[in-house]
Amino acid sequence: MRRPLVAGNWKMNGSSETAQDLVAGIRKGVEAGLPADIAICPPFVYLTQVGGLLDGSDIALGGQNASQHESGAYTGEVAPAMLVDVGCEYVILGHSERRSYYGEDDVLVAEKVVAAHAAGLKPILCVGETLEEREADRTEAVVASQLDALLESDDGLAALQNGVIAYEPVWAIGTGKTATPQQAQDVHAFIRQRVAAKDADLGAEIRILYGGSVKGNNAAELFAMADIDGGLIGGASLQAEEFLRICRAAI
Ligand code: PEP
Repeated sequence: MRRPLVAGNWKMNGSSETAQDLVAGIRKGVEAGLPADIAICPPFVYLTQVGGLLDGSDIALGGQNASQHESGAYTGEVAPAMLVDVGCEYVILGHSERRSYYGEDDVLVAEKVVAAHAAGLKPILCVGETLEEREADRTEAVVASQLDALLESDDGLAALQNGVIAYEPVWAIGTGKTATPQQAQDVHAFIRQRVAAKDADLGAEIRILYGGSVKGNNAAELFAMADIDGGLIGGASLQAEEFLRICRAAI
């Protein structure tokens, strides 16, 4: 039985003041014993603050990116071990915004996942196709090559053992257009089979999240699908009540 996970990706939003209010609102509404894991991924500069605000709760902390390097002269970068040092359990890697705005390719993302795992983090590997790719019937080919860069790299399978995959169709991120539950399920099943072909146990156990305009009013139907194990939530994670509705749908 896979335990659902709902992770909030705050992206580059907020301030120390809004972070405080948002975490307070979420903490107030998270019932003890909720049968799902919850994680919050604020911008780097607020990790320590938010980690402190989450102390004593079951809500985990995550980063939104990390370097593939351990340490050294990489100005502006943050090492996976630094995320562990400030209390992170998870890190989002290969988000489509990192891929498209910062040129992160499949090989680099695979290196980051391996480095994050080696530092003790649970990587959340993001994959997904653009609208153009979907319309050209290339969804499976694109997702396969994003996955294979990791699955076929040294230590790639090992790095996924405590990892998570997020299927995020690029056309659904921040657009208000959500994949239908069946569209999402089809790709989730494809991802699970692809992982299972390399490691049957991992394929059965790995959590695959859906991301792309998940809201309180569509989360339950998405999370009800057989291979959808929760969500990676952008915009709706910035409002405590909306995020809580989504968390409650993840059972
Ligand atoms: C995301 O950025 O990972 C995401 C899913 O964003 P949104 O929920 O806003 O579509």
